Amino acid sequence: MAGIYIHIPFCKQRCIYCDFHFSTSFNSYRAEMIEAICVEIIERKKYLDNQEIKTIYFGGGTPSLLLDYELKSILDTIHSNFVVKKSLEITLEVNPDDIKQENLIIWRKNGVNRLSIGIQSLKQSDLDWMNRSHKVEDSFASILLAQKYGFDNINVDLIYGLPNLSMEDWVSHLNFIIQNDLITHLSAYCLTVENNTILNDRVIKRKINLPNEDVQSDQFLKLIEMIEKSDFEQYEISNFSRSGFESKHNSNYWKGFSYLGVGPSAHSFNGESRSWNLSNNKIYIKKIKENNLGYNETEKLSKLDQFNERILIGLRTIYGVNLNELSKLNKLTKEFQLALSEFKDKKWIEEDVGVLTLTKEGKLRADYIASGLFIS
Ligand code: SF4
Repeated sequence: MAGIYIHIPFCKQRCIYCDFHFSTSFNSYRAEMIEAICVEIIERKKYLDNQEIKTIYFGGGTPSLLLDYELKSILDTIHSNFVVKKSLEITLEVNPDDIKQENLIIWRKNGVNRLSIGIQSLKQSDLDWMNRSHKVEDSFASILLAQKYGFDNINVDLIYGLPNLSMEDWVSHLNFIIQNDLITHLSAYCLTVENNTILNDRVIKRKINLPNEDVQSDQFLKLIEMIEKSDFEQYEISNFSRSGFESKHNSNYWKGFSYLGVGPSAHSFNGESRSWNLSNNKIYIKKIKENNLGYNETEKLSKLDQFNERILIGLRTIYGVNLNELSKLNKLTKEFQLALSEFKDKKWIEEDVGVLTLTKEGKLRADYIASGLFIS
């Protein structure tokens, strides 16, 4: 069970909150980038130890900027170098303004069967504030058009905790998602201020006042409350799906299965080690051209690293953390047991046949709880 992630490091413009790796001036070297990505796929074909590939995920950046032959050459290279499952999930992250008839035809023709649409907000002033390249009308039109061209597995991304997003706005955005049968999956993220973003700069210069944590928590709790009354299920803290439409790619990642990440800044994991590519487009291309493997760094994970990582990732999901599997990685120390019983007493964690999961209250402080259970 393994997946491949392809990072397409291009965007039309910079959203103010974004700290992903991408460039907005790429047309002069986009052919070289696609070639470098294909070379990396070939160079690292042994990384997953011949495991069958069940999912391919194009993220970024903005993979919906890929041209037909670019998408085809990356997928052909994967098919020629890996054992690929017939019923493969292929996800493409897309911006609403790229969802046009001609692109939808190209994506279907190349085997893409899941779209992840970066809607982010259904309020134009929020989109302007974020410096998104699309308009609210694009979002509404894009979902209908995607369905018309055969896409029945559609995720939308939403952001809450925005400065001008009232509870009323948020409820109306959620109602739109829940009541729209064409949308099968929702990823909802709280706005966070990351270093090296325009947002961070504006916050430091006091040009922006962010809502306080209570407002953000209330919006998260409203999200959970509305999801519980709908036919979506929360299967990861920020991810919700209708039955059978969970993201296979991300679920494999959360369950600790292996994946290969290709392209600048992409991360990989094969059970024993974690590796990451450098985040510079031109240097990445140069090193690949020179046959210099220095574009990638690897760190071997100790059993203790794996233990802590299982807690961090597993607790965020409905699959939870299996105590028996944890104990194979490291002894469940007295400190761990003490912290666990404290979190159970506070009703932040539940245990059912040896599997730990977070309660609704626990989900509000997932990272805090996970770090309380880490063993150092
Ligand atoms: S389109 Fe996506 S990757 Fe590009 S800047 Fe905006 S949020 Fe970041």
